[in-house]
Amino acid sequence: MGKSTSPDAAREAARSWLSEHWKGVDDAAWRDALVDAGWAAPTWPEGSYGLGLSKEAARAAAEEFQGAAAPGACVDLASFHDDPWLRLLGNPLLAFGSPEIKRHFLPMLLKGGIGQNCLLYSEPGAGSDLAGLQTRAEFDGDEYVVNGQKIWTTNGRAANYGLLLARTGWDVPKHAGLTFFVIDMRQPGIEIRPIRQITGDAEFNEVFLTDARVPAAWMIGEPGQGWKVLQVALAAERSGMGSASASMSGTPIRTGLRDAADDLIEAARSAGRLDDPNVRQEIVKILSWRLTNVWTGRRAAAEIRRGPSSLASLGKLAMSRILHSGADFTYRMQGEQSLVYDYDKPLEHPVDRDLMFAFINSIGGGSDQIQRNIISERVLGLPKGFEPDKGVPFRDVRKGADTRSASQA
Ligand SMILES: Cc1cc2nc3c(=O)[nH]c(=O)nc-3n(C[C@H](O)[C@H](O)[C@H](O)COP(=O)(O)OP(=O)(O)OC[C@H]3O[C@@H](n4cnc5c(N)ncnc54)[C@H](O)[C@@H]3O)c2cc1C
Repeated sequence: MGKSTSPDAAREAARSWLSEHWKGVDDAAWRDALVDAGWAAPTWPEGSYGLGLSKEAARAAAEEFQGAAAPGACVDLASFHDDPWLRLLGNPLLAFGSPEIKRHFLPMLLKGGIGQNCLLYSEPGAGSDLAGLQTRAEFDGDEYVVNGQKIWTTNGRAANYGLLLARTGWDVPKHAGLTFFVIDMRQPGIEIRPIRQITGDAEFNEVFLTDARVPAAWMIGEPGQGWKVLQVALAAERSGMGSASASMSGTPIRTGLRDAADDLIEAARSAGRLDDPNVRQEIVKILSWRLTNVWTGRRAAAEIRRGPSSLASLGKLAMSRILHSGADFTYRMQGEQSLVYDYDKPLEHPVDRDLMFAFINSIGGGSDQIQRNIISERVLGLPKGFEPDKGVPFRDVRKGADTRSASQA
């Protein structure tokens, strides 16, 4: 099979494979067979646990799976498991992973066994300027030894693995000295401290890495190629945030996650304001943004499948406005009740919580301002801003005093 397989041929192949293998039980043996045969992710390349099918052919095959009530044959990796790591880790692995690391992680991802994970990118001195990060990974035998600090790590305490961006090169410009790893979070060299958020939740963490170890084989891409690998991971994250915010959070916000307006209509009805023309107009405005962003999300997903895309930034930026507007609307409809918030029971106050949590999309995965920079430079083709450290070896770039010792090591 492959890209040229027609939908009819894919349908026929799926039907024939199902008649031989599907016994009506979704157990470990079924998932092994499904993954080995490439039917768990038929759009993934052949040789990487997929069949290389086009989306249209995979959709036809998926109909056969649905008809037989057999799990599998996800079209764009969303329907088999509702697991964001299929994209966040799967996409960089497919694009840059060695055969060895693919063999280790892809079956685990596809069988649903990878659990919770985290992104170890941001540092106290490197958020928007992520390429300026200073956590260092030093080669030692067949491992790298990692030292440094990460921050804002969502789900850090629950994580089995972390996607780690670390510095391996100090004598090259900042973007060229980064390397991308998957690190085992369950090891003595990793200390995780929760951070209390404005909502009362504590999903964020500080992560301290002290002589933490990562096998060299768990590098994605080559040493110094980390920035390139990161772009694939970030595009997956941003397109996820553009279409369904808070995908990495265990407790997602409710507003903006849909292409309908039931939540807004219900809020207006409860407030007795459904007949107010101003309120009705506001509902329609937010609904139209939501609908438009669903289409942008589809365009971004299609582009990402073909290669690097900046469209995800458009969807993510728009989702920021959608989340804030929806949350602000329901908050206002709730009236004086909105003044009450119990920080120990945030989930009992979903409207207030959504209002505060809406900032997830404006900052997480790259702030709104950074998305605007990306859109202006990569979509609109405007000139880049001033880059004082362009071409300067990272060792010579000015940094905060507390981390300078790391760069001199
Ligand atoms: C809900 C949430 C979840 C997150 N989860 C994770 C996670 O799991 N893993 C992880 O590694 N990180 C995570 N982050 C961190 C997030 O990626 C950073 O907060 C973000 O990149 C901004 O970095 P910063 O906080 O250091 O702000 P700064 O970079 O210090 O920015 C401060 C302000 O300056 C603006 N600014 C900075 N540079 C520019 C510029 N060049 N042009 C215009 N404006 C600029 C920014 O837009 C912002 O308003 C998360 C953040 C949030 C809010």
